[in-house]
Amino acid sequence: MERYKKLSDYQAPKPKGQVGTDIDAWCTRCKRMLTHTVLAKTEGRTVRVVCNTCSSEHKYYPEPPGSRRTTSKRKTGSRSSGSKKIPAAARVFEDAIRDKDMSKPAAYHPNTTFEIDQAIIHGKFGLGIVTEVKPRGRIVVSFEDAVRVMVHARG
Ligand SMILES: [Zn+2]
Repeated sequence: MERYKKLSDYQAPKPKGQVGTDIDAWCTRCKRMLTHTVLAKTEGRTVRVVCNTCSSEHKYYPEPPGSRRTTSKRKTGSRSSGSKKIPAAARVFEDAIRDKDMSKPAAYHPNTTFEIDQAIIHGKFGLGIVTEVKPRGRIVVSFEDAVRVMVHARG
């Protein structure tokens, strides 16, 4: 009787993101993409989730904040015109690199010791500039998309 399909074959696939099911979402506490459980939906849209890792309840974010597909590296000094708002991090970055020599950035490595106002190039984050040197081997680096605290001088 192999020619008869099993009943399960006729059932519509379970819609993804139903209340109570798992969904990949940005955790506002863990600050990373993690599996969450859907808590609430509005008009078919997931609105509230609970993190399976830290159990914090928060709004549903399908992706990390600021992860829009604007990977094109803008030349320093270019000004985006029109209605698009410049992200705060980009503004901080532009201010930070003003009057600075960014032509010879040092490759970022945790073992390297960096100085304030030093231009660095990071494999993932791109061009950045050291805006602050903190105690215990930490530096604050302003990148175009975000300001990050990085380790240095581990060598
Ligand atoms: Zn979490």
